[in-house]
Amino acid sequence: MAPLEIAMGQKMVTKQEGIWLKGNLHGRSTVSDGKLPPQKVFEGYRDRGYDFFSLTDHNIYTQYESDGLILIPGFELTCYIRDKRVHLNFLQKGEKSLYEHGQKFVIETHEKTMAFIEHAKDDYLIMLNHPDWSLLQYRDVEAMDYLFGMEVFNYGSEWQDRVGDSSHFWDAALMDGKRWFGLSTDDNHNEYPNSLVGRLIIRRVTVLADGSWSRQKTEVSRR
Ligand SMILES: [Zn+2]
Repeated sequence: MAPLEIAMGQKMVTKQEGIWLKGNLHGRSTVSDGKLPPQKVFEGYRDRGYDFFSLTDHNIYTQYESDGLILIPGFELTCYIRDKRVHLNFLQKGEKSLYEHGQKFVIETHEKTMAFIEHAKDDYLIMLNHPDWSLLQYRDVEAMDYLFGMEVFNYGSEWQDRVGDSSHFWDAALMDGKRWFGLSTDDNHNEYPNSLVGRLIIRRVTVLADGSWSRQKTEVSRR
């Protein structure tokens, strides 16, 4: 079974019986602007009890293996929604890859972004990264029905610029009927004294009988 299916499919069903997987879907290495080589990053997460990790270096597809850690091949693409610069993570769904290890991407227009997404969306989960850091408003992305999730919390953006909390953005998406997963990531570049520190936000929103939304519970845990 493919890594992502293991991490987010079969095992999650099992985990619903009482065990949870811990992971990070956004992280960097020396392949782009991170400070540690990939295997050191993997060791750091594995040694801190993470189950899965996606190395999402800027605009380059990579695929690695690491003992004891489920790796989801992916990358962070810099692209454009109209005139707004957007960062999207592409996470490989299965064994099939559309790209070669080390393949780089340069996307400079809205039209090229749409073509890239159309080509990749069946084989990759696409998530919206740090919308507040990118100075986005919900209306900028409301047509992006192909997203599987968005970063509700980005630790790197919070640590660096205090703009990591995008819960208001997620609320707007949910209120508009989107069914995007709310994700919390490190966006680690391995240069902080507190990098490789897991942080998890779980937010539960319930649909009431009349179709309205109710925020039921917000949990924040750190270690
Ligand atoms: Zn980014």
